[in-house]
Amino acid sequence: MAWPPAMTEDRPLVTRFAPSPNGPLHLGHALSAIIAHDLAKAGGGRFLLRIEDIDGPRSRRELADEFRRDLAWLGLEWEETAAQSTRLATYVAAAAALKARGLLYPCTCTRKQIEAAGAASGAERLIYPGTCKRIPPDPALPAAWRLDAGRALAATGPLVWEDDLAGPIPVDLSGLGDVVLVRKDLPASYHLAVTLDDAADGVTLVTRGADLFAASHVHRTLQALLDLPVPRWHHHALLMDDTGQKLAKRRSSPALAERRLAGENGRMLAEQLRLQHLRLGT
Ligand code: GLU
Ligand code: ZN
Repeated sequence: MAWPPAMTEDRPLVTRFAPSPNGPLHLGHALSAIIAHDLAKAGGGRFLLRIEDIDGPRSRRELADEFRRDLAWLGLEWEETAAQSTRLATYVAAAAALKARGLLYPCTCTRKQIEAAGAASGAERLIYPGTCKRIPPDPALPAAWRLDAGRALAATGPLVWEDDLAGPIPVDLSGLGDVVLVRKDLPASYHLAVTLDDAADGVTLVTRGADLFAASHVHRTLQALLDLPVPRWHHHALLMDDTGQKLAKRRSSPALAERRLAGENGRMLAEQLRLQHLRLGT
């Protein structure tokens, strides 16, 4: 039975901000952190900071320190939870369980090969065309492991997830296809790590930008497959610049650290973002 989803209301409210230390925080990150923080405080809950430093050499410890300074500068208070680099064994165990059930398959394709195949099929969004599902690859080659969306759906049956703003959303894996859960170079992908971490941290309300909306279909599926508690979600609208471009993508938008070091008042900036967020209505 997929609906209603496992209730989280009997658990205390826990939100989180989960930045990856591979680049500085910008205004969009600040908004995400503020929303997660304010929702937790308004509901008498806890607000967690989790450093998503799974990305090996691309993760920089000194950036995580900058993040903490940025959040304090914005006037936020948080509890810090375990960083991803300390949780690799959990990811390995979960991936092994999914493999044992035949829900993952190895994929040796390079990004170039996938792009070429994706372009050939004319798909709007790049969806893995299933090459290695049809023809099992050479086991000697380095492989990523993908979730077989068809088998996953057969295993879970129809599922629903609940977004605070968008309402109940039926799970549809067709938008992302067979996503990678274990990377060639890492024991987990973003999808696997973030789902396990949110469960381990007792997160009951996943707050993040609407650019990650589609990922929640995958995360809800993983929760069902791995028997994890089901949170609610809150995907907030992204800040746009005057030209309608995502602010996060605009190079000219200065990093929070830069504004902080230039002496700007972070609490005032946070208030401005709260007002802007109210205007966006999300
Ligand atoms: N670490 C991810 C990022 O910085 C965010 C993960 C999430 O909020 O689910 O984009
Ligand atoms: Zn492949």
